[in-house]
Amino acid sequence: MARTVIAMLMLVAVSCAGAQGAGMNIASTDIKAVRLQDGLYLFKGYGGNAVLLIGPDGGLLVDDEYAVLTGKLVAAIAAVTDQPVRFVVNTHFHDDHTGGNEYFGRAGAIIIAQENSRRRMSSDQVVSLYGPQHAYASIGQPRITFEQSLQLHLNGNSIDLKYPGPAHTDGDTIIFLRERNVLMTGDLFVRAPYIPPYFDDLNGGSLEGMIHCVDQVLVLADERTLVLPGHGEPGTRSDVVEYRGQLIGARERIRAAIARGESEDAVVAEHPLAQYWGAGRGIDRWVRIVYREYHR
Ligand SMILES: [Zn+2]
Repeated sequence: MARTVIAMLMLVAVSCAGAQGAGMNIASTDIKAVRLQDGLYLFKGYGGNAVLLIGPDGGLLVDDEYAVLTGKLVAAIAAVTDQPVRFVVNTHFHDDHTGGNEYFGRAGAIIIAQENSRRRMSSDQVVSLYGPQHAYASIGQPRITFEQSLQLHLNGNSIDLKYPGPAHTDGDTIIFLRERNVLMTGDLFVRAPYIPPYFDDLNGGSLEGMIHCVDQVLVLADERTLVLPGHGEPGTRSDVVEYRGQLIGARERIRAAIARGESEDAVVAEHPLAQYWGAGRGIDRWVRIVYREYHR
């Protein structure tokens, strides 16, 4: 069991962020297309989920996978539409969600992101837990940015882009397709059992921010909303409620230990989050990051 969890954590370590140029495992992954609704597709590969909205105005792609999978993503898109991708929205700067930017930018797509994400894609970064991520060439950087919100009107859809505040990073975007009642959360919400919800504490992410922003997802979503996480299978509002419960539970357990005066090492040794995600090195590191966030 422990070995399984460690193996899964290693998998997530390269699938959540920061594996620029990382090897053959990623490159050999196939991209699977899932038709969600008429004109709406989910592409699942190794990195973050990519979502394509198509129609007479052309394609709008939300996130574009690792760069090594661009060829496969482009082929998967071509299999469902002959429309060009005219717009790319990045949910945040991590390269498992933005690796195709240079390709799509060169192909003529307009890339859109929250302004902090553009800033991070325009210069070299160090991503928490995963290491360096280099700046993209200017063709792969967002050309339209926003601070708090932006609306697009494409293919008969009203598309709300909303900055919920710093959460997974300091440049996250929630995308809501109003008429379709489809919500894309980026990595604020992931459906990866046995793995604690990763956030990038070196780049504005925090557990407190995750909780605050998940609350905003819950305000936008109703019982019928299709919620598309940054990683994992499509879910519903009740999945987000359950996830929020885990975040709150983790916060309360670690805060309570801090209030009792326990050291970081002592809290880690207790495996306080075993009921949610088991125990293992990756979870221990997550506990340390959360401990430091609240031990002030
Ligand atoms: Zn991420």
